[in-house]
Amino acid sequence: MIIIIFGPPGAGKGTQSQFLVKEFNYLQISTGDLLRDEIKKKSELGGKISSLINKGYLVSDELIYLLLDNYLNKLNKKNKLIFDGYPRNLKQANEFSNLLDKYNLRINKVFFLNIDRELVKKRISGRVVCSKCNRVFNTEIANLEMINHTCGKDFLIKRKDDDYKTILKRFDLYMEETAPLIEYYKSKEGFCEIDGNKEIKQIYQQIKGFIDV
Ligand code: AMP
Repeated sequence: MIIIIFGPPGAGKGTQSQFLVKEFNYLQISTGDLLRDEIKKKSELGGKISSLINKGYLVSDELIYLLLDNYLNKLNKKNKLIFDGYPRNLKQANEFSNLLDKYNLRINKVFFLNIDRELVKKRISGRVVCSKCNRVFNTEIANLEMINHTCGKDFLIKRKDDDYKTILKRFDLYMEETAPLIEYYKSKEGFCEIDGNKEIKQIYQQIKGFIDV
């Protein structure tokens, strides 16, 4: 099963993907994580990526394509994949379809996590990420998993692009660039709209309802 999960920043793409990883052994392929890994290398390219991400801009389609192609090429397991944060615009959606053809893969489900702008602000203000394993937590939700998380709390950081001003900019960019994917995928097989305003576990139940496991 190949899944795409998309929606505004803070909709819970990462969190929901991680639930599927944990319960059903999916592999989460987050282009945001691939980019942050590149930043960690402290290369010249990483520096350029970091300045774009921190300002809330998108990274070039060409670079994302290369990163992903490279990643898929090295990947042994090519089933149960979740693409989180890709595609992010119509050009990427078309390129993605070519990329999947190249690896003989087919999209089965496209989850659109729909969430209101007001809730995005609230969700992101409490968001922290483990810089070691990329897991996402929210400090505003009493969270045993965060406390017991194996990497410990020393690696938990707040993303630079999660400040209030950048979040709103990212939301507007989402409306401009990514929201057209709703119409694009609606006409294709496997499109599922999920109410992302619900409580996190309820959202997961909705998603599971669409997956044959
Ligand atoms: P995310 O972790 O998905 O919230 O992504 C964090 C940031 O990485 C985004 O705000 C973009 O700057 C960049 N990014 C992630 N995925 C893509 C993509 N598919 N295309 C362009 N930029 C991306």
